[in-house]
Amino acid sequence: MNQGNGFESQRASMVDYQLRARGIRSIKVLEAMGQVAREKFVPKNMQDCAYDDGPLPIGAGQTISQPYIVALMTEALDLKGGETVLDIGTGSGYAAAVMACIAGQVFSIERIPELAERAARTLASEGFGNVEVHCGDGTMGWPEHQPFEGIIVAAGAPAVPESLKHQLAVGGHLVIPVGSEHSVQALMRITRLADNEFRTEDLGAVRFVPLLGEQGWS
Ligand code: SAH
Repeated sequence: MNQGNGFESQRASMVDYQLRARGIRSIKVLEAMGQVAREKFVPKNMQDCAYDDGPLPIGAGQTISQPYIVALMTEALDLKGGETVLDIGTGSGYAAAVMACIAGQVFSIERIPELAERAARTLASEGFGNVEVHCGDGTMGWPEHQPFEGIIVAAGAPAVPESLKHQLAVGGHLVIPVGSEHSVQALMRITRLADNEFRTEDLGAVRFVPLLGEQGWS
């Protein structure tokens, strides 16, 4: 099943059955998820599961998110194309790659060196020259590159980090799971309406690994 273009047909089915059928509508997101070779972002011995409908372990106790969650969060950023995006929790680099198909530039931060290095290598070899990976604490954002039209956080926070809110461009969205450390979180979308005016929406229940850091869990 996985010889030749086997992965391409699995990817096309993933887009149809896991994304489109569940209500992902953004053509840009569906096209991006149809393009990125997810099998390159999972450990070699798990490539056969790359298009499964769930998260997968990527080492260091972390996971690559379920494809549907990546699509849902990317859709919530409402990118039109060409934006500057901040991605917190690079992990495998997969979500960064999906956003890089739409945005102009993606800045991605991962706190575990081994994952940051591997993700940077995968992104480079897959041709994503518009993603920059940095190893460090993403809860403080990346002030040098602000403002961001979109910020996505792939780990659960105790509360919305103030520093991230204030690195959003006016009109930009921050998508972040907020809630208890080891159970279910609410996926929140914070939109910066004006300098000091933010709107908060609850997009539903999700389950993420904890966001560790200065404005995360200790
Ligand atoms: N977007 C990833 C999913 C990563 S899981 C992908 O597509 O594969 C969440 C990641 O967030 C983990 O790798 C974890 O190490 C990282 N993380 C947790 N707290 C962090 C912090 N404060 N700054 C940066 N990365 C963090």
